[in-house]
Amino acid sequence: MEKIQMTTPLVEMDGDEMTRILWQMIKEHLILPYVDLKTEYYDLGLEYRNETEDRVTVESANATKKYGVAVKCATITPNAARMEEYNLKEMWKSPNGTIRAMLDGTVFRQPIVVKGIEPCVRNWKKPITLARHAYGDVYKGVELKIPGAGKAELVYTGEDGTEMRELIHDFSGPGIIQGMHNTDESITSFARSCMNYALDTKQDLWFATKDTISKKYDHTFKDIFQEIYDTEYQEKFQEAGITYFYTLIDDAVARVMKSEGGFIWACKNYDGDVMSDMVSSAFGSLAMMTSVLVSPDGYYEYEAAHGTVQRHYYKHLKGEETSTNSVATIFAWTGALKKRGELDGNKELTAFAEKLEQATLDTIESGKMTKDLAMITSIPNPVVLNSEAFIKEIAEKLSQYSEK
Ligand code: NAD
Repeated sequence: MEKIQMTTPLVEMDGDEMTRILWQMIKEHLILPYVDLKTEYYDLGLEYRNETEDRVTVESANATKKYGVAVKCATITPNAARMEEYNLKEMWKSPNGTIRAMLDGTVFRQPIVVKGIEPCVRNWKKPITLARHAYGDVYKGVELKIPGAGKAELVYTGEDGTEMRELIHDFSGPGIIQGMHNTDESITSFARSCMNYALDTKQDLWFATKDTISKKYDHTFKDIFQEIYDTEYQEKFQEAGITYFYTLIDDAVARVMKSEGGFIWACKNYDGDVMSDMVSSAFGSLAMMTSVLVSPDGYYEYEAAHGTVQRHYYKHLKGEETSTNSVATIFAWTGALKKRGELDGNKELTAFAEKLEQATLDTIESGKMTKDLAMITSIPNPVVLNSEAFIKEIAEKLSQYSEK
């Protein structure tokens, strides 16, 4: 059998711990037998990030800007314990944060829906993709504890010296205040990323804020989205048969719970933080959640939404068997291969990625799965497989499809 050729390389960002082990297995058993895989490889494993003083992360983001599509393995974000464990020169920043800042992107998280793993919300039939604005608001907030009576004000001083002032509160006793910000530029990028992704995936786009209470702050988000939609996207949305829908955040929550799913829900930073965990746990499992970073310039980086599964890795190091779910990492690869195929007009590559997704879902639907899924499935008497056996089972299904 001839392998599928690629014209443009994928940017491959390797990672850490258990997901690094799965990464190799996925390539070996599921991709390399079928695809003459071209990648530009960057090792974002913590050891090499430390060795290169994190330059490798920056280089991988630059390569993504050059080629347009990347696939990333989960990576360790160092903390005090990791400083010691890996003898780090510095507490390097989260690679995801660095890459996101360089690509100015928005993260879209989408559950992988499969028969046998039913969402807690019975009427959710299709995935709900959550888009979280990843800049500003309370995450860049400054706060003060007010010790006692006194006036707190917001003050803006323009470069030309003009001043704007607003009373926050005339305190009669102790209290607290918080100042936060966002920029028109970042909100505009967020709006464009969401609208591009809606067109890409042919799904309706919902956006919600609390503009009735926050008449300047949240209202600015609403206005910028509307303006970008009216001036740049309205016609394209109509042609694609999709809609843009704005509503209040409380109304959105109520509608989401009663919906069938199948749309993108764009949220401000804090709302997205909270709602993405709600949506992912309601869909079943963190290990069944993919994530793609989409930049307003049209760069894509695909990954699993979960981390490096550290606990399983320590078991693996002790020689014990693990049953780690590789589905989200497989879908990170298929997402990237499909996008590469689409951009290069390489239909064979796209068709292969779709076949691999189908083989993965069919394996689970036939009752063979990893332990995390076996604990929540509605399929009777599921067969629990270890990390490698699950991937090999998918490989077996894939080879049957390829013979047809
Ligand atoms: P984690 O997602 O790795 O694991 C959390 C728990 O979820 C695990 O204990 C496990 O029970 C379960 N789980 C997650 N993925 C699973 C899978 N594929 N199969 C089976 N069970 C799974 O998060 P964590 O333990 O908080 O973090 C471990 C490391 O991952 C940390 O160093 C953190 O910095 C990193 N991390 C990286 C990313 C990323 O690169 N995108 C995201 C989150 C965490």
